[in-house]
Amino acid sequence: HHSATADRTTGAPVGNAHVFFDYHVRVRGWTHGGYNYVITGTGEIEYALDEKISAYHAGFKDPDNSAGLEYGQYWNNHYLAICLAGWFSDNRTYRDASGRLHPIPNRHTAPSEAQMKALTDLVQYLRQKYSIPVENVRGHRELAGNSTECPGQNFDPARFRETLRALDEAAAGPPEPQPEVHPGEHVVLLADADQYLTAAMAYIWRFQPDVSFALEEAEGRWPYVTLVGSAEAVSGDLIARLKTGGARLVQPVVGSPETVQAALDSLVARNQRFDTSTTPTPEPPAPEPWRTYTVQPGDTLSFIARQFYGDSSRWRLIFEANRDILTDPGQIFPGMLIKIPPLSE
Ligand SMILES: [Zn+2]
Repeated sequence: HHSATADRTTGAPVGNAHVFFDYHVRVRGWTHGGYNYVITGTGEIEYALDEKISAYHAGFKDPDNSAGLEYGQYWNNHYLAICLAGWFSDNRTYRDASGRLHPIPNRHTAPSEAQMKALTDLVQYLRQKYSIPVENVRGHRELAGNSTECPGQNFDPARFRETLRALDEAAAGPPEPQPEVHPGEHVVLLADADQYLTAAMAYIWRFQPDVSFALEEAEGRWPYVTLVGSAEAVSGDLIARLKTGGARLVQPVVGSPETVQAALDSLVARNQRFDTSTTPTPEPPAPEPWRTYTVQPGDTLSFIARQFYGDSSRWRLIFEANRDILTDPGQIFPGMLIKIPPLSE
């Protein structure tokens, strides 16, 4: 809320928890003040009313209960009320004692930086304390059955929620690095298809890996493996064999079908193919080592290239790598030790 109270000559926020309490109780006749917290014009947070007490701040008129909410008191009973002192709209007016309308200067028509800072801190504190989703942080005018411009035209609750979301994301830290996986490189191996296929369905739908039930035939076929099943079915021996077979990442997701589904659904929710917080991101494949070869009688560079690369036209690669001992590609002699560079060089 805003308090819709502004100094008539300066437009600046006026009021505090005590003043609002006094007004609500003495003038309006309520049993207590309307807000749980008040943020003053200078950004001070005032604790106005116990959080367990329903503040009177957003009752609604809904005689036929068409909104389906608790009659009249839903927002009061379920929402904490925070009021920023001030009037956050342009072209405000007041009436003098004789009923004449006067303008209030168009200054201080939006919350100050200090107020927004205090509000952000307070809301994040309360959200954490009560596990309040960001969608439930609302401006008064966004509550069904309430016809008001509170908290003022110049306070945009949607923008405030964006700020909170950005803070949530920053607090969650950067997303875990994920290996780059191409189509056909990742398989979900299901140790028990009957029990675990349903559990893995959302995950499979989201990431479109290959799916296989043939655990014994998986060795050496996929660089990335998600291994799903009970603890008995997913043995350490199987994991070791998949790794020996060349898999760069083997991620066991093990447990009852319910446990497995929870873990996989959580990956889907985070848009992460792998849980790299528990399984280290695979190292990029080690560069192929240089090899050496002792020239045999009758060898040519083309012949050696075909032996090592399967391609005799690659002889120049070997020649260039051995320029320290070779000056003519046709002049190699038995017994020479030459270097064979990897093809990727
Ligand atoms: Zn309000």
